[in-house]
This record gives sequence, structure tokens and C-alpha cells, in this order.
Amino acid sequence: MVNYCCVFCCDNNSRDKPKMNFFSVPSDPSRQISWLPLIGRKEWMLVEPNVIARKRICSAHFSPAMISGSRLKKEAIPDIFEDGRGFRGTMNLFDFTTV
Ligand SMILES: [Zn+2]
Repeated sequence: MVNYCCVFCCDNNSRDKPKMNFFSVPSDPSRQISWLPLIGRKEWMLVEPNVIARKRICSAHFSPAMISGSRLKKEAIPDIFEDGRGFRGTMNLFDFTTV
């Protein structure tokens, strides 16, 4: 099975990058709510948490401090994005209307 990263604008997948880790999105809805703006998927707040929990995020979005071995730490949040800036605090859904 191929895992695809669900982060907005990230096209990493486990077929192209077999050595990359793909982590599950947390199943806890309150953690999902804090993750969704970070990964550029605010619109998923309308999606069932158990559906979102099946999504994967590649290890490119986590600094080493967030990862323990091959697993995410319990309190980990994605904190690295392609442009080198977190979306935190600056992103809203309407930033992506041109896509
Ligand atoms: Zn990714």
C-alpha cells in the first residue's frame, strides 16, 4: 500500500520515497483540530475524525525533537513546511483560493 502525505502542497509518497516515515494523523479530535491549520487542511474540520485519522503525514514536516525512534512523540505537532515557515498563526483557508 502506498502512503501519501496529506500536507497541503506536499506530494511525498512511500512509493517515491520508500525510506521516508509516514505518520498517522492523531485520532484524538482535539489534537486533529490543532494539526489541521498547520498542515493547510482547515476544511477537514468538517470531516469525521476517524476518516482524518487514516491520513498520513511524511516525516519531512517534523523536527527531530518531535520524533522518538520511528514514532511521533505523544505531543508532537508538524512544525516544518516546504517553504521553511510554519503556517502557524498566519494561514487561513482563503490563502489557497488561487490553487
Ligand atoms: Zn509531506
